[in-house]
This record gives sequence, C-alpha cells and structure tokens, in this order.
Amino acid sequence: MNHMGEQQAVTILGATGTIGVNTLDVLSRHTDDYSVFSLTANRNVDKLLEQCKQYQPTYAVMQDAAAAKQLEAALKSAGSNTTVKSGVAGLEYVSSCAGVDVVMAAIVGAAGLLPTLAAAKAGKRILLANKESLVMSGQVLIDAVKDNHATLLPIDSEHNAMFQCLPIKETDGNYSPADADYPSLGVDKILLTASGGPFRKLPLEQLDDVTSEQAVKHPNWVMGQKISIDSATMMNKGLELIEACWLFNISPEQIQVVLHPESIIHSMVSYVDGSVLAQLGNPDMRTPIANALAWPKRIAAGVEPLDIFQVAQLNFETPDFKRFPCLKLAYNAYAAGGTSTAILNAANEVAVEAFLNKQIRFTDIAKTIAHALSNTAAHPADDLDVILQDDAAAREIACSYITKISL
Ligand code: NAD
Ligand code: MG
Repeated sequence: MNHMGEQQAVTILGATGTIGVNTLDVLSRHTDDYSVFSLTANRNVDKLLEQCKQYQPTYAVMQDAAAAKQLEAALKSAGSNTTVKSGVAGLEYVSSCAGVDVVMAAIVGAAGLLPTLAAAKAGKRILLANKESLVMSGQVLIDAVKDNHATLLPIDSEHNAMFQCLPIKETDGNYSPADADYPSLGVDKILLTASGGPFRKLPLEQLDDVTSEQAVKHPNWVMGQKISIDSATMMNKGLELIEACWLFNISPEQIQVVLHPESIIHSMVSYVDGSVLAQLGNPDMRTPIANALAWPKRIAAGVEPLDIFQVAQLNFETPDFKRFPCLKLAYNAYAAGGTSTAILNAANEVAVEAFLNKQIRFTDIAKTIAHALSNTAAHPADDLDVILQDDAAAREIACSYITKISL
C-alpha cells in the first residue's frame, strides 16, 4: 500500500521472462497492496494470454504487431476486458500513463531503454532489472530520474544487496541515485560479487569449444538465455560494474569484483571504520523484487529461509582477465566514456545472439566486442539520438565482423 493507504498499480515490462514471472509470483502474495495494471512481452502470445487470463491487467502490450493482433483476438474470444496495444509506443504508454505507480523494467537488452526512460520521465517508481538501459544511457536515464522525481531501485541481486548495505536516505519513499555521495558517508569500497559462471574452472584451452547448451547452464541461478551467456563470459559483471557506477554515483576504482562461487553473499559494502556489511540469501530473485517493491518496508517473498549450516562455507577468489576478457573490455569502455558503453552493450548483444545461433565460438564473443569498440566512433553520451545512432553503428560493425569469422 502507498502512503495514502491505496493499492499500487504495477506495470511489468517483460512479463513473460524470468524476472517477469518472479515478479508476478511476489505480487500474487500481496493482492491487497498491489494490482497488475499492465503486462508486456515481445511476441510470446501463448504465455502473455495465459498471464492475462490469470491477472486481468487493464492493458497488455506486445512489441510485435502481428502477435498483438493474435492476442487481441484470443482475449476477445475469452471475454476479457484487457485492452491490447503494440510496439514501442504501447510499451511507453503503459510505462508512463497516469494509472501506473510502479514499473518493473524487465525487458532484456537495449529494447528496454525507451520504455524505461518513459517511466523515468513520468516520475514513476522504477524497479530496474534491465541493466542494459543504464549501461547504454547512464547520464540520460539518471538525469530523467532526478529531473522528474522518479525513484530508481535496483533489482539486480548484487545492486539490490549494495542498496541494502549502503547508508540510503529515504525521503518520502523516494530514492534518486544522483543525489548520493557515499564516500562522504564513510563508504570506502563496494565489493561486487560474481559466481564466475559455469566455466570458472575449465582449462583455458577448452573455452574455444564450449557449446551454448553448456554456457546457458548457470550453476546457481535460473535466468534468461542472454544473461546466462553474459554470466559465462562475465560480461554480466562488466555491465554490472557500469550499472553500479551510475546507480550509486561512484567510480570503478571504488568497486572490487570478487568471485564468490556459492552466490550466497550478493555483494558487500566496506566502510572506513573497518566494517564490512554483506547481504546474504538464497539465490532467488524474488528477494530483490520484494525488497524494491515494498522499500522501505519488508514483505514476504516466498523465498526459502537461508540455512547457513547447510551452506557451511563461503569462498572468495579474484577474477582472471585472461579467462574473462569481456570483464576487461567493460572496464575499458567505461574508462573511454561517452557512448563507448553503448557500443560495448550493442556489440555484446549481437555476439551473444550469434553464439546462441552457433555462428561463432564462445571465445569469439569477446573478439567481436573488442573489434566493435575499436572500429565504432564514440561520442559524448548526453543525447539519446546519438546513443541510439552509435548503438546501431556498433551492431552493424559487429555483424559484418561475425559474417567474416562465421563458423
Ligand atoms: P528473459 O529472456 O527471461 O525475458 C525477457 C523479457 O523481455 C520477455 O518477457 C520478452 O518477451 C521481453 N522482450 C525481449 N525482447 C523484447 C523486445 N525487443 N521488445 C519488448 N520486449 C522484449 O530475460 P530475464 O532473465 O528475465 O532478464 C530480463 C532483464 O533482467 C535483463 O536485462 C537481465 O539482465 C536482467 N536481470 C535478470 C536476472 C535474472 O535472474 N533473470 C537477474 C538480474 C538482472
Ligand atoms: Mg546480477
């Protein structure tokens, strides 16, 4: 319930994905406090139809126009009152319209940027899973949040852990990261944990031959395909490093990446007095979702309580850039500044798709991104059109490189 004691209306961008489904699970435990305003998906008609029948949102949006027509017909014959919209305009509408209080931004990749930005401009409470939008357009998105008194709360488990361990000031239920000055509040360093993915121990010479089936099998988390590959290359940690810099107004020098194969500590904050605060829990995304949804309150998430006796041991290692060149590329792109991080993100999306389609090897992902970073001109990233242009240019350069090296 909001401070007026009313139900909060929630839009879920990417409702059919892993985060979307987990969000619906948490919401369905708290139906007095939250209502489902709208559900969106790319083109999975069957799944969105099933979700619409169960949750009866006011709006459903399919990015794909033909899929939207199919959904509309199916909902009509089921006697549903849900209105169907399509395309980016439909996504932006349900992110920004007056009836919405909370927007779960859980579309995968660059496609999440425009609807997330629309939510920020409309001053919504944004639960940010779509890290790619911050990586692409950090300053633009953070400025939109600040200028329009929106709230930006992290869903990424690591960033949600940092959020819980940092000295966050609550102002009437709002949080604007751009206002934060954590070093002045005694924060020395943030420890960003990473599982290391399925290939943490594989002999380096075997990395060339790993399959996409092996790469999507994450040891601790069940996630969408793209983020699972990103976890195997550790580009996910690179994107998260950039995400943390924008979310908490800090620099990469204040962040240390730590391999922690158990995924029980989700990140830590180290203070100048020697204290280190950590957030622990079972690897279940319903914890950060419930945390961000109800913050500053706590609500039940349906997550198994952590059994520390069963966990028994926690291990920590430093990451190796030879094994994880994508992590190094992310540091380089952030240091280069401007649209370099949008170029990094775009080339990564293209390379991951090519790897999933068996066009390139696992180790070609980093090569494709490095090629795109050296061959796409970067610009200052304070204008959305420039960001989108450089994103498109990087995709083209990555695609033609992939055509050259294709298996
Ligand atoms: P997923 O692949 O399971 O789901 C993606 C969702 O986005 C689907 O609903 C799909 O229909 C929608 N979508 C895809 N392309 C689209 C397009 N062009 N236009 C509109 N909608 C589109 O992905 P996921 O694992 O749920 O991840 C979603 C986001 O959350 C990603 O940015 C990911 O990095 C982030 N995230 C996920 C996890 C996790 O545990 N899964 C953890 C942290 C962060
Ligand atoms: Mg994460």
